[in-house]
Order: sequence, then structure tokens, then C-alpha cells
Amino acid sequence: MATLQINNLHAKVAEEDGESILRGVDLEVKSGEIHALMGPNGSGKSTTAKVIAGHPAYEVTDGEIKLVLDDEDVADIDGEVPAEKLEWDLLDLEPNERAALGIFLGFQYPAEIEGVTMTNFLRQALNAKAEEREELFEDDEEAEAEEEDAGYDTSPMEGEVDDGELGVAEFQQLLKEKMELLDMDEKFAQRYLNAGFSGGEKKQNEVLQAAILEPSVAVLDEIDSGLDIDRLQDVSEGINALRDEQGTGILQITHYQRILDYVEPDHVHVMIDGKIAESGGADLAKKLEDEGYDWVREQVYETA
Ligand code: ADP
Ligand code: MG
Ligand code: MG
Repeated sequence: MATLQINNLHAKVAEEDGESILRGVDLEVKSGEIHALMGPNGSGKSTTAKVIAGHPAYEVTDGEIKLVLDDEDVADIDGEVPAEKLEWDLLDLEPNERAALGIFLGFQYPAEIEGVTMTNFLRQALNAKAEEREELFEDDEEAEAEEEDAGYDTSPMEGEVDDGELGVAEFQQLLKEKMELLDMDEKFAQRYLNAGFSGGEKKQNEVLQAAILEPSVAVLDEIDSGLDIDRLQDVSEGINALRDEQGTGILQITHYQRILDYVEPDHVHVMIDGKIAESGGADLAKKLEDEGYDWVREQVYETA
């Protein structure tokens, strides 16, 4: 089981002297748990998501983000994984390295990439993750020895499938399974990336990416925004499947309580001005729906 630990996180816009946006965020998300991160507009929810992923627009000025893994999380790695490679400071790592360790942030890719089908895009994303993972967990001494083997080209011949990489047929099978799991139409995968995708289809796509990449923790930022009720239910069922079938931990960022009727959170957190001001169970979300955010804000500024 993986644990994402955020301690006293402070962050501001990079290369600016402006105020902190995040002012001491504490949050712990374990695989298999669903956490809702709620809060008024501008409170720092999306910034939290982007800082977890390593977005270059932000600079972390204090605190830490750790990912703690156990043997099960590295079962795909050949050979023994030493203890020091079970605990990672994500702030020292590039976004793609964080993703390879099991953090997923649904990405908003360019409107369309000509000639790339969903299938190809997802296969490339999965293979890139596997390769990065191999590098991160590679025995450091072995890696050095390999580098010293100068001049000897070990790269695969063109068209040959690299070690550990999923070929087209194998990937098709995996994709088929995942689409069944999410109850998605198979035709979807044959479409070109984002070409004419509706808002709802883009969101379903985000869930499909997470199903393929099997992260330990998926951060879903306003995946409910702009969805009609049918799509909201489809997307919600997909999120529940990620948790129930793959043990993915979910950090569900949302302004509205509505999606929480379908994706029931184990924990609810309210962010006010860059800090978690209140945490509780699913009933906290109901209270917010009835009473809004003002009472939490008042609570923060009374005690300050
Ligand atoms: P939320 O997702 O809770 O609505 P955000 O994290 O998007 O809030 O934003 C929090 C605050 O930080 C807002 O006041 C926003 O304007 C500011 N902010 C976030 N990102 C940037 C940025 N890249 N440049 C300038 N200000 C930013
Ligand atoms: Mg936001
Ligand atoms: Mg092993």
C-alpha cells in the first residue's frame, strides 16, 4: 500500500515575490482511500494538485511531499528493491518520475494531436511509465557499470519491442479489459486523440488513462465540472472501479458536493486560503452543501 504524505506544504508562483498560495497544507492519502478536497474558488485546490504533480509554474518554499511504498507496490520490479527506494521525496523528482512512481494527475493535453489514436497515445504513455520506473528502481551500481560499457549499443533494433514494453496486441488486450471495467464503448479507443471529444468524453478519457496507468494515487481536479447527470454517473462509476478493482487512492478535488453522492469519500477536507481548515467524513460534505463555506472561513479567522 502506498501513502502520499503532504506535510506543511507552502508554495507560491515561481519566479515571483508574491504571497504564498499554499500556506501549510497537511494531507495524507493512501491507496484504496477516497479523499474529497473541497473549498471555495481560489482557495488553492488546483495549485495543490499541480504542486503534487511537479508543475513548473509553482515553487515550493517549505514543507514536503513524500511517497512511501511497500513491497506490493514494487512487485513489478525485477530483483530486490532496497529499503531506501521505498521512500521518495517527490519534491526532488521530475513530473514524469513522480508519475512513474504512481502519482497520476489527469492532464489536459493539446486540443488534438493529428493522426494519434487514443490507443496509441495510451500505449505510449504506459510504456514511457514502465521505462521510467525501470530507471528509478535500477540498481545504482549496475547502472554505472552499464554506462562504463562505452560504445556498446544495447538499444533495440528498429521495430523490435524493447524489454518489458507492451506490444500492440498485448496492449489491445489490456485496453479491452480496462474499457470493460469502465463500461466504455470500444469504438472510443479508435478515435483520434481529443478530436471532437465532448466535455464528458474528455473526462471519461481521464479515468481511462488512470485505469491504464494504474497509479497508487490519482488526483482528479474538477472531473465533475460541466457534466450532465448521466455522464457524471458514468465517470463516477469509473472512479469507483479504480478504487475497488485497482486499489487506487483518489484525491477528488471538487467545488460541489454533487459528485460525492456517487463517489462516496472516506474523508472530506475543506481548503480555505491555502490550508486545510476542516476535515471529516462524508457528512461534512453534506453540511457544506447545506450551509456553504462561510462557517469554515469564520472558524479559521476567529481562531487566528
Ligand atoms: P482553486 O483551484 O481552489 O480554485 P487555485 O489553486 O487555482 O484555486 O488558485 C489559488 C489562488 O492562486 C488564486 O488566487 C489564483 O489566482 C492564484 N494562482 C494560482 N495559480 C497561479 C498562477 N500560475 N499565477 C498567478 N496566480 C495563480
Ligand atoms: Mg481549481
Ligand atoms: Mg521484485
